[in-house]
Amino acid sequence: MPDDHEINYNSYKELPPSPIATGSSLVFKTGGWRTMRPIIDLEKCKKCGICWKYCPDVSIIIVEDLPKVDLDYCKGCGICANECPFDAIVMVEEESI
Ligand code: SF4
Ligand code: SF4
Repeated sequence: MPDDHEINYNSYKELPPSPIATGSSLVFKTGGWRTMRPIIDLEKCKKCGICWKYCPDVSIIIVEDLPKVDLDYCKGCGICANECPFDAIVMVEEESI
């Protein structure tokens, strides 16, 4: 499967109608759009799964009951950080990492 960063487009006309709607999100790693990154403090995490439920990009996966951000697809919207009832997620600028 090609990485979206390996594809060189010369015009928007060469793009698929919608990178997301065509079901190509597995091909187009939309995490490249992100300017802010969610950082999960697993010491604070209560394993409630709310961040997983709210993420509009299905970019939070649960591994052994703990949330993990899939940075290939996370767009950095901050919804997970906003919704976490335990303030276990903070958003930090990508450039500062
Ligand atoms: S919402 Fe917060 S406390 Fe709940 S699983 Fe996600 S990070 Fe952990
Ligand atoms: S920042 Fe947005 S896209 Fe990324 S994991 Fe959180 S809710 Fe999902």
